[in-house]
Amino acid sequence: MQAAGPGSGAAWEPMNVDLDSPPEVLRGDLPRGGYRIALFDFDGTLSLIRRNWPAIMIPMMVDELARLESGESREALAATVEEFVMRLNGKQTIYQMMQLADEVSRRGGVPAEPLEYKRRYHDLLWVQIEDRVAGLKSGRLDPEEHVVPGSHAFLQRLTDAGLTLYLASGTDLNYVRDEVAALRLEPFFGERIFGALDDYKQFSKAQVIGRIGEKLRELGAPPEALVSFGDGYVEIEETKRAGGTAIGVASEEETRRGVNAWKRDRLVGAGADVITGDYRRSDDLAKLLGIA
Ligand SMILES: [Mg+2]
Repeated sequence: MQAAGPGSGAAWEPMNVDLDSPPEVLRGDLPRGGYRIALFDFDGTLSLIRRNWPAIMIPMMVDELARLESGESREALAATVEEFVMRLNGKQTIYQMMQLADEVSRRGGVPAEPLEYKRRYHDLLWVQIEDRVAGLKSGRLDPEEHVVPGSHAFLQRLTDAGLTLYLASGTDLNYVRDEVAALRLEPFFGERIFGALDDYKQFSKAQVIGRIGEKLRELGAPPEALVSFGDGYVEIEETKRAGGTAIGVASEEETRRGVNAWKRDRLVGAGADVITGDYRRSDDLAKLLGIA
């Protein structure tokens, strides 16, 4: 990928100065219209506040397993951890911690409670993101710089086109609400924000998608009237299961440019209908969805 040049992204520059590719359409019979509800995942799909979370979660888990001296190398443990952490990404964080507890048991250790692992993880992560959240709230940091590029304008476009927007995140609801507000995304979602609860069985993306299905029936709209956007397996698979269109957001969370190849391949494997790296090409996305 071409490096972003000086001043890249300034309003006066044409949009085609870099090598960003248009959305990749993987489904021939993609419905080109009729969408009523759009569902968004939060972290990695809109928000980049928690962008370094795998760099916190994976080493924490590897440390936990390495203490058990199972004879596996740190590299081998890291590969095991990365596989399940990424496979479960999109579900509530507690599921990743439940898997860690299983991995500890499997190696003859006595695991802590998954909720305790989750608390430790969040404490470590919070050290990294606390300043970001505070800076966004105080106005010192620009919300546009801490979202997947083009998020605000694209959400506005969907809203203007008459779609109702929902947000569902595997992160705890109180944090999601706080970070949605810090990023000035609240007006787009209102009360339609869902996240993990202490009683983890009271929330899942499948449940939210089920409720959206009921809403669509009330509106006299078919299941195909749902389009969802996500950078994880879970939202893609659940959306497809419900009969909706799934847009895989293969965001590059650090550079904020282009498509992340690793995410793209996984999202394609999960059944995504379209892949995009971000929302800067909102004309192309809007045309694909028939809302141009
Ligand atoms: Mg995500």
